[in-house]
Amino acid sequence: MTRDDIMKIIEEKNVNFFRLQFVDIFGFMKNVAIPRSQIKKALDGQMMFDGSSIDGFVRINESDMYLKPDYNSFLVLPWRKRDGINAARIICDVYRADGTPFIGCPRVNLKRVLAEAKELGYTMNVGTECEFFLFQQDEQGKMKIETNDVAGYFDVDPEDTGIGCRREIIETLEAMNFEIEASHHEVAEGQHEINFKYADALTAADNTLTFKWVVRSIAAKHGFHATFMPKPVFGINGSGMHTNQSLFSLDGENAFFDENGPLKLSETAYHYIAGILKNARGFTAVTNPLVNSYKRLVPGYEAPVYVAWSASNRSALVRIPASRGLGTRTEIRSPDPSCNPYLALAMMLQAGLDGVKNKLVAPESVNVDIFHMTPAEKQTAGIDSLPGSLEEALVALKQSPISKEALGEHILNKYIEGKTQEWNSYRTAVTDWETNNYIKKY
Ligand code: GLU
Ligand code: MG
Ligand code: MG
Repeated sequence: MTRDDIMKIIEEKNVNFFRLQFVDIFGFMKNVAIPRSQIKKALDGQMMFDGSSIDGFVRINESDMYLKPDYNSFLVLPWRKRDGINAARIICDVYRADGTPFIGCPRVNLKRVLAEAKELGYTMNVGTECEFFLFQQDEQGKMKIETNDVAGYFDVDPEDTGIGCRREIIETLEAMNFEIEASHHEVAEGQHEINFKYADALTAADNTLTFKWVVRSIAAKHGFHATFMPKPVFGINGSGMHTNQSLFSLDGENAFFDENGPLKLSETAYHYIAGILKNARGFTAVTNPLVNSYKRLVPGYEAPVYVAWSASNRSALVRIPASRGLGTRTEIRSPDPSCNPYLALAMMLQAGLDGVKNKLVAPESVNVDIFHMTPAEKQTAGIDSLPGSLEEALVALKQSPISKEALGEHILNKYIEGKTQEWNSYRTAVTDWETNNYIKKY
């Protein structure tokens, strides 16, 4: 997409409102809306904003920042059309006043890590599978604690009352050039999944951000509250963001595929798996960023708990889906959709590349249900656990040998600072569980 293409669409579709979007360190989409008169200035990257008010960005005395749009991310927003007038968005990188890219911008950071991968001869392809819940809302639009339905895995209407909403989400995404592969009711009550096609890592992160925004916006139109909170309801499955990843060589071959390799996987694939496993504990605070994330990573709900890989077993952290050839990939099952996709991909890519660069050897694959192994069996097989809490994950992040390379010092420090505050706020809160279990007994 060129500047001229964009100007043409703006004319043709009568785009009068224009949103410049970017993402903060904690993965929240931000936007500045501008009218048509400012579009040229915006496309030239001349729009300034105050970065000091954005979580984890800059201090007050260096607050002038610029938004540099990525033309490829330009999209007209189908659900914002009113009386023939359209709105559009474009995703931006954040730049400093001196014209250099701002290292605290998660998108700038992912580009840096991808450029390093390119120097090693690889590009990365990613497909995310974001699960989410629909909750009912009352007349005032306030969220209720009831899910939209009590249907289960692959159920159909009329039990699946989210079907109309899912359909409009899909139509909206298709109008935004997403290629939708499938959608279904997930295992838990009120839980849904819509799969869109994989893309290069940067586009995949942009798409993940956009996907979450569209889901929430369309759900609200249908009177539902959509949430990507990892474990919204105790006792039923939580929501994951399985992340399919593969490396491609610069001439477009899938570097994980080898017709003659064991399981038809290449040495590079095995090194990548080894790197992911070695660094998994260290990247979990980024792929699973909330206090609540750790209530999903428990046995019994199809979410991984142990650091192991398997060609088939869904209890493992890394699974190798059956397709081969160009579709050969690793599926990392621990991330959840509350993560910042730009940071999560930067961490996981760096983890995999650690394996590739240092030719790390992957442990044996585990093809039994790890949840049924005794602690002694797990120890003999060298199977470690993922962190059990955000606090434990933050300790592992601080110790991680790849975190500085993956996030850069600025983001890493701001991230740890923000998440430590979050943990402390939780740690000192008195929860319903404590009141229910203690107040009468003691
Ligand atoms: N909802 C499960 C999780 O927490 C995953 C279910 C699935 O395999 O799609 O990761
Ligand atoms: Mg699923
Ligand atoms: Mg999956």
